[in-house]
Amino acid sequence: MKDYYEILGVPEDASVDEIKKKYRELVKQYHPDLNKGDEEAAKRMAEINEAYQVLTDPKKRAEYDAMRKGGVGFSSEYYRPGQGFDFFDSIFRDFFTDFPFGSSFFNRTATKTKPRGTDINLEVTLSLKDVVTGCTKSLRFFRDELCEECHGTGAKDGKTKTCERCHGTGVVENRQSTPFGVFITQTTCPTCHGAGSVPEQVCPVCHGTGVVKRQRTLDLQIPPGIENNDVITLKGQGNAVKDGASGDINVTVKIIIPPPWRRKGKDLYTEVHVPYYHAILGGKIKVTTATGEEKELLLEPGTQPDQEYILANEGVPDKSGRYRGDLHVTIKVDLPSKLSPQERKFLEEIRKLHEGDNKKRFGLFN
Ligand SMILES: [Zn+2]
Ligand SMILES: [Zn+2]
Repeated sequence: MKDYYEILGVPEDASVDEIKKKYRELVKQYHPDLNKGDEEAAKRMAEINEAYQVLTDPKKRAEYDAMRKGGVGFSSEYYRPGQGFDFFDSIFRDFFTDFPFGSSFFNRTATKTKPRGTDINLEVTLSLKDVVTGCTKSLRFFRDELCEECHGTGAKDGKTKTCERCHGTGVVENRQSTPFGVFITQTTCPTCHGAGSVPEQVCPVCHGTGVVKRQRTLDLQIPPGIENNDVITLKGQGNAVKDGASGDINVTVKIIIPPPWRRKGKDLYTEVHVPYYHAILGGKIKVTTATGEEKELLLEPGTQPDQEYILANEGVPDKSGRYRGDLHVTIKVDLPSKLSPQERKFLEEIRKLHEGDNKKRFGLFN
């Protein structure tokens, strides 16, 4: 897990103002415009952005702190590399007044991409039977949904007024006097984020965020043949966000395979124990397949320990459904540790039967 506090070089109890101050310093040091072609600096900047994004959002920070203490991995759902610059610009807009860079930097804010809701990452556990037959799993989770009260606008009764900062244009002009003249640049209005209007009063249900948390249950159909760690993505079903597209739901599949079962691609492997005389004499045995069905298997006389039999088409189906793997059954021959008097008698007879050969072949029996 990344240590965001270490990345920004701030103490764990740093205030938002302290973090912002430190961030500005780091930006001046690592900004890509000042480190052209320097991959290390770009990487560092991305990390700094990520840390800043999480630590200045009270909710994300609280979650991060909790996971940090609990030693659980922090999902990077708050940060996707593709959003780096958009995010960077929005930060930048907050304090461009004391920013030392020229207009090339300002211009980047001219293209504003829509926000996107975060992804929801879930995990589902499957048995081998689930994998072979396919299954439906119920998933329960919380997600941000557009507030019904304000239709996701964040404004009470949907009533908005013209933004005072940009007078409804959605953009603000910045003038910079330099020895070479006055530079005028346009950026998206930081107050209304380009909408040109702001709520008259914030929505009392969502407090202006435009979204509310709801618990949902989803029945997820999982086709046969899925692999461990496969991810099923449900596009646009993740967290909603005001004025933007919803994120996705990503479901990671974890398959539990109890020993002695093993899976290798589409083939399955298991073991069956049989008594020694059954292996020697041959005969039918029952094998329970991955789906719990009992199949008959005929052991040939003289079956050896660890001999493998194959039950064709009892493995995992291919995702295409065109073919199915096999079930490989290894025969484990059980030898008795105690003999009944009768059993001993028979075995002594057998030994006598082989006395001649044994003396010749092994020289160790009398
Ligand atoms: Zn505005
Ligand atoms: Zn609302």
